[in-house]
Amino acid sequence: MKYDCAVIGGGILGLSVGMMLGRRQNGLKITVLEKEPDVALHQTGRNSGVIHSGIYYKPGSLKARFATAGNQTMVDFCEEHGIPYEACGKIIVATNEQELPLLETLYQRGLANGLAVTKLSSEEAREIEPHVRCLKAIRVPSTGIVAFRNVCLKYAELIQTQGGSIHTGTHVKAIQSRTGGHFLETNRGVIEARFLINCGGLQSDRVARRTGLDPKARIVPFRGEYYELVPDRRHLVNALIYPVPNPDFPFLGVHFTRMIDGAVHAGPNAVLAFKREGYHKTDFNCADSFETLTFAGFWKLARKHFKEGLMEVYRSLSKKAFVRSLQQLIPEITENDLTPTHAGVRAQALMPDGRLVDDFLILNAPNAVHVCNAPSPAATASLEIGRYVADQIPDLRTAVTI
Ligand SMILES: Cc1cc2nc3c(=O)[nH]c(=O)nc-3n(C[C@H](O)[C@H](O)[C@H](O)COP(=O)(O)OP(=O)(O)OC[C@H]3O[C@@H](n4cnc5c(N)ncnc54)[C@H](O)[C@@H]3O)c2cc1C
Repeated sequence: MKYDCAVIGGGILGLSVGMMLGRRQNGLKITVLEKEPDVALHQTGRNSGVIHSGIYYKPGSLKARFATAGNQTMVDFCEEHGIPYEACGKIIVATNEQELPLLETLYQRGLANGLAVTKLSSEEAREIEPHVRCLKAIRVPSTGIVAFRNVCLKYAELIQTQGGSIHTGTHVKAIQSRTGGHFLETNRGVIEARFLINCGGLQSDRVARRTGLDPKARIVPFRGEYYELVPDRRHLVNALIYPVPNPDFPFLGVHFTRMIDGAVHAGPNAVLAFKREGYHKTDFNCADSFETLTFAGFWKLARKHFKEGLMEVYRSLSKKAFVRSLQQLIPEITENDLTPTHAGVRAQALMPDGRLVDDFLILNAPNAVHVCNAPSPAATASLEIGRYVADQIPDLRTAVTI
């Protein structure tokens, strides 16, 4: 099979890129290759379902640009296609004195990112979330909720309407990249593509290396486990309640999220996963663990943040500890109010010097674009990332074929 462009990965980014490219370059032969039996089974189908506002990110970064714009484009997309979503807003709460300056910094960052954030006293916060306990809070009105899987199904439908194809159950195992194109060896035979886009999520660094590109960064998987409020305690949370994030690890800090189906999730934590696509505490994969544990960057990170790492493991193993973190936000939550629910694994790129790659990392290579770091808020920003990647691709309708 021969294509103008093959996208590896049927998560929200691969599908968005495929859809955007098809819109930009009408008539192109595009395919999305997904190793699983369906699309959106990994990060995209296992996340918090929050349409982020963009408040956390450094002004001017890709994350800030794509999340603030993506928040609106995601809402518009849902409106246009009748996908259920809710612009419920969220509050971020400071529960002790030390967090107050961090909350102020976050407020200023929200303003710098052009958001209509407001400061709330403890009483004002309780008018929005009557069960919360805090000293002060900020409200971010543009945060919303959606099931990103539904968004993906629409992207997939539009790709096909535009004449593209989606091959699920198609695992790209090896890649021969030559001048003018790529030969993708899959479990279903060889696929030729003049242009390649790597949206492999948790496998994106490996996919890049298969083409001969060294992205330097290595994906280190961090599992995020969630609990769910039992139905008769869902009234404790109206919408979204977040703690002030640790500036070094914005993804740490369990929070409450109302899902679009009405359930309320609490979490996620962030524990090192010994399997890239391992959703249970005991999941283990030799190759995945070997790659992480032999990567110098991992040990540098582990040495520097040993305490935080240990706390996350403790919180993963002890429901009591997990509940204690949640009680900082809502004191009346008890262990009996929570039952374990799904987990997701974050694909976080780490540099050899131990730095977590903070921004989205999108690398250009001959006849290829590799999305090598796309953690949260990439689902929110998916239309913007899709547009950005599609804009990197030369007009394949006029370019020479292999
Ligand atoms: C716990 C958690 C909570 C999150 N919460 C939010 C949130 O609330 N809001 C938000 O905006 N973002 C959130 N995120 C981030 C968001 O989910 C991800 O940034 C986004 O889903 C990344 O999409 P993706 O397409 O890059 O990756 P994925 O969804 O992981 O898709 C990659 C796909 O590539 C496929 N693949 C890999 N290798 C191959 C191969 N060799 N051949 C064929 N197919 C291959 C995989 O099977 C997979 O389906 C969260 C993430 C996690 C883990």
